[in-house]
Amino acid sequence: MPVSEFDIIRRYFEHHGPTRGDVALGIGDDAALLVPPAGQQLAVSVDTLVAGVHFPVQTAPEAIGHKSLAVNLSDLAAMGAEPSWATLALTLPTADEAWLAAFCAGFFALAREYGVALVGGDTTHGPLSITVQIMGFVPPGQALTRAGAKPGDGVFVTGTLGDAGAGLRVVQGTLTTSTIIADQFKARLDRPTPRVAAGLALRGLANAAIDISDGLAADLGHILDASGVGAELELAKLPLSDALQHCGLPEPWRLAASAGDDYELCFTLPPEKEAEALARLSALGCPATRVGTITAEPGLRCRNAEGKVVTLAGTGYDHFAGDPRG
Ligand code: ADP
Ligand code: MG
Repeated sequence: MPVSEFDIIRRYFEHHGPTRGDVALGIGDDAALLVPPAGQQLAVSVDTLVAGVHFPVQTAPEAIGHKSLAVNLSDLAAMGAEPSWATLALTLPTADEAWLAAFCAGFFALAREYGVALVGGDTTHGPLSITVQIMGFVPPGQALTRAGAKPGDGVFVTGTLGDAGAGLRVVQGTLTTSTIIADQFKARLDRPTPRVAAGLALRGLANAAIDISDGLAADLGHILDASGVGAELELAKLPLSDALQHCGLPEPWRLAASAGDDYELCFTLPPEKEAEALARLSALGCPATRVGTITAEPGLRCRNAEGKVVTLAGTGYDHFAGDPRG
């Protein structure tokens, strides 16, 4: 007997993941009833993943479940907000229970790790698409926005950049490398690690922050626009994984500068906050690298190891401007 929409909700989404005391009424009614903590601001963000656009169609369902929540957690990380609740709007081509079980395994493993309760959603029939809305809390005045960067701030990134972009090229067949390296790249593409703890640690220290979903140059560009400043980016300082350095690409830093999907944080620190911020991140085991400096002169200037200005082709992803990622 085919499984109904209500069976799917009951079997796969109700009473899964962590329970929270601030959920007065969860899945099952016309709306959830939530109790935000007194005195905190509610941070809300939503992201849709469309098959073939945001993930390759052959992506494992467990990875799709992970990624659909991870990209949303990454947005809260970039705000310095503590995640609490999520909703999930799922459009499915078929009611494939094996697919649903694997999707939920990926989704709820991450939900449990971050203590996020799934409080509602919508289940519909159509081309595969997943929309997750995430909610979280941040004390008033402490959110990390894109707008506070000041000339003289250092520009920093967490982790390493470019691996997810390399993973996309492996899947698309435009990058061939050893199986071990290819698997590392694909893992970064499929299972990004949201930098939630790093975002919380940067509260009160970073002047501006953004998560790197579209590529460093494009996302740093959003900080520059919102803050009314410019930046010098030192391409030789971009943190590259061993895998990216040894995968055979002639200029691996190009991926680190402009490929998307890494979900690391880019943030700016005034010099007097640098030591404390780096100590906090180091205590979390989160690598952070200074890659540039905010300038009063607008625009982004990228320099290579010799100090020469380098132009980056096709920076960032714009859904309505064609795909420069190729
Ligand atoms: P309504 O028709 O009133 O909008 P639905 O039948 O769509 O309600 O959903 C019933 C309940 O199941 C609601 O509480 C809704 O939030 C929840 N729900 C539906 N789909 C999902 C899903 N994919 N994930 C989590 N909760 C869901
Ligand atoms: Mg209703």
